[in-house]
Amino acid sequence: MFHWLLGNKDNPFHYTHHGILLGGVILYLSAGLFNLQFETGDRNFSYFLIGIVTPIHLFIWYRSRFYNQFDSMAMVFILISVVLIIPLNWYFNAGSLGPSLILSFIAITYIQTLFHEKPRVKMVFFSLLTIIPMILLLIEPITQQWIYQYPDDTARLQDNLFTYVLSIWVCILIMNMMSKRYQLEKQKAEEYAQQLKVLAERDSLTQLYNRQAFSKIYTLAQHRHPQLCLAILDIDHFKTYNDQYGHEMGDQILRDYAQGLSKITADKGQMVSRHGGEEFLVLFPSTLKLAYAQLNELNDYLNSQQSLDKPIQFSAGLVEVMQNTPLKEAIQRADKLLYQAKNSGRNAIVTPND
Ligand code: GH3
Ligand code: MG
Ligand code: MG
Repeated sequence: MFHWLLGNKDNPFHYTHHGILLGGVILYLSAGLFNLQFETGDRNFSYFLIGIVTPIHLFIWYRSRFYNQFDSMAMVFILISVVLIIPLNWYFNAGSLGPSLILSFIAITYIQTLFHEKPRVKMVFFSLLTIIPMILLLIEPITQQWIYQYPDDTARLQDNLFTYVLSIWVCILIMNMMSKRYQLEKQKAEEYAQQLKVLAERDSLTQLYNRQAFSKIYTLAQHRHPQLCLAILDIDHFKTYNDQYGHEMGDQILRDYAQGLSKITADKGQMVSRHGGEEFLVLFPSTLKLAYAQLNELNDYLNSQQSLDKPIQFSAGLVEVMQNTPLKEAIQRADKLLYQAKNSGRNAIVTPND
């Protein structure tokens, strides 16, 4: 229901504006009916509010909501309110003794909400809202004969009371919508920030951490874990998978492989990243012996998960790193061992002890 009336919540600005427009429709309709019922204003003015002003505002809401004419309709709405409704209300509702000045304040709150990104438009309307009521006040003594006066003090009291209470609640509604919009925008900004963080930290194909992120993870792990090992894994003969299944399928195989790698390593507190191509880095917060056993387990697990005719195997170099070993140096050492693993016939894990 709210979605149909106000539009998409993901666009909080439009959503708020349509809420305010419909609030305006209710306000004019109820003010007209109130005036008629309690005779607190000119009857013709009440008919004007109910028969012309309310439909115009419904039309503005309709064009804005369903025809994408948000900006132009917002201008029309404010223009009508400032140059027509407020002065008319002044003459038909007892001038400065009536509620017109309160309406000016609602209009200011409204303009602030609606044109918060258009300072010039805002200034034009703020100026109009300063000048028009000022002129009305100044010429009131000489235009007294045209100003509708309440039949008695009770009518004046009722009208002012009604408009005051209604205005207060319209203002509360506007501010409430503004704060909701702020919250939604904040939530959106946080989501974008999170997405940017993921984009900055993750490799786009496999969603594993990229080199930059891994470098930070490595430094943190060095501080956190007294015992640390680094392995570099390289899939054996990956080129032949591309040749056999095509490059796109090769991408998919890499994605699936990375997912399996990520799952099993995360379960065991190990950290994995894509070093590039079909090479991965894995950090083990454990001794070399344990890391070796865990890497073998990883190999067995990944072998058991596959559905390809030709199982994917990797070769790896595994080294222990000290608290002050730079990542670059650790990778170079592990890479040399990986080279040995490849030379020894692949599908092997080589450590400095071998
Ligand atoms: P080995 O490591 O056992 O020596 O053989 P290899 O064929 O895996 O090694 P090499 O480093 O010569 O080639 C790696 C291949 O991996 C080359 C490239 O086609 C493929 N590759 C690298 N990155 C990607 C990628 O993102 N997607 C796909 N589909 N293939 C990739
Ligand atoms: Mg390679
Ligand atoms: Mg390879």
